[in-house]
Amino acid sequence: MSTLDLPILNGTRFRARFETELYAASKITTLQINIGYVCNLACHHCHVESSPARTAPQDNMDQATARRVVDWVLAQPSIKTVDITGGSPEMNPNFRWMVAKLHRHGLHLIDRCNPTIIEYVDRQSGEDYRWVPAILADNHVEVVASLPCYSQANVEKQRGRGSYNASIEGLLKLNAVGYGKDSALRLNLVYNPIGPHLPPPQDALQADYKRELESRFGLIFNELWTITNMPITRWRHQLQRDGQLEAYMTMLIDAYNPDTIDGLMCRHQISIDPQGRLYDCDFNQALGLHTPGMESSYIWDLSADDLADRAIATDDHCYGCTAGCGSSCGGAIV
Ligand code: SF4
Ligand code: SF4
Repeated sequence: MSTLDLPILNGTRFRARFETELYAASKITTLQINIGYVCNLACHHCHVESSPARTAPQDNMDQATARRVVDWVLAQPSIKTVDITGGSPEMNPNFRWMVAKLHRHGLHLIDRCNPTIIEYVDRQSGEDYRWVPAILADNHVEVVASLPCYSQANVEKQRGRGSYNASIEGLLKLNAVGYGKDSALRLNLVYNPIGPHLPPPQDALQADYKRELESRFGLIFNELWTITNMPITRWRHQLQRDGQLEAYMTMLIDAYNPDTIDGLMCRHQISIDPQGRLYDCDFNQALGLHTPGMESSYIWDLSADDLADRAIATDDHCYGCTAGCGSSCGGAIV
C-alpha cells in the first residue's frame, strides 16, 4: 500500500520506477538523531507533527538511550557528523551533555534549531532556554535554523503569531555569541515554501534573505538552504483539506530529476528515533517506515559498516526529495 494511495500515481509509483537508481546507501558518515518530538511550536508543515503536547516518554529520548547512542557513535570510526533534530532538540534534558561529550571527542555536530526556542519560557515549569546560544557556541555546533521566509506575514502563516519576532531575536542572540561571524560557528537558515510549490532557486533566494535580514535587523548568516515540503503527515493533510494533494503530487512527479539521486541524504546517513530504532531518513521515521530488514533492530545492534550498502525504503513521498533541484538535509542537491 502506498503511503499516499493516490490513483494519479498508477504507473508512476516511485518504488517501481526508480528501484534500480535508489536501491542502496553508500558509506555512512552521518548519524541523524531525532532526540524527541516535543517542540514549543506546532507548525502547519511539520513532518514529525511536533508540538508542546508531545511530552510522552516514548516521544523523547531518555538518558539510558542517549548514553547508548553516544557510546555507539564513539565506537564508529566512519561516523564524522552527528545531526541532532526534533522537535526542538534543546528541550530534551540530555541535549547539553550529549553535545559536550561528542564535541570533546571531535565529532562535527549539527543542531536543527527552531530559533524561537531561545526566547521561549515554559509557562508551567518556568524553564527558559537562554543558555542555548552559549552552549552551542562552546561546542562548535553548526546551527541549522528554520526561518521559512524573511517576511513576518509568511512566517506567522506557517508557525503562528509571534513566531517571527521570536525567531529574529533568537537569531540575533546567535549572532551575538559569534554565529555567522566566526568561521567555527556556522549559522545556516532553512526556507520551505508556504504554499504548494517547489522552492525557488536557492542562490537567488539566499541573496534576498541576506539583503533583507541584514538591512532590517543587522542579522547575518552563512548559507540559506531550500527544502521542499514533503507530501506526508501535516502538510499532506493540509493539501487534502485544500483539495490540492493530487496537483501537488503531479507537480513533484513531473519535476523528477535523476541528477538528485547521488546527493539524497538517505544514501549517506542513517536516522534513529528516540528509542534508537533505524530509518533511512527523518521522513521515513515520521511514516514509521523502517530500514528494510532492520525493523526490529536498534542502532547499537549494528555497526556503521553494516549500514553501508543497505537497501533503502522508498515510496511516493520520495518524489519530494527528487523534484527540481532536489531537497536534502543540506538544501538543494543540484
Ligand atoms: S519548529 Fe520545527 S519541529 Fe517544531 S513544529 Fe515547527 S517544523 Fe516541527
Ligand atoms: S524521503 Fe528522501 S531521503 Fe527519505 S528515503 Fe525517500 S528519497 Fe531518501
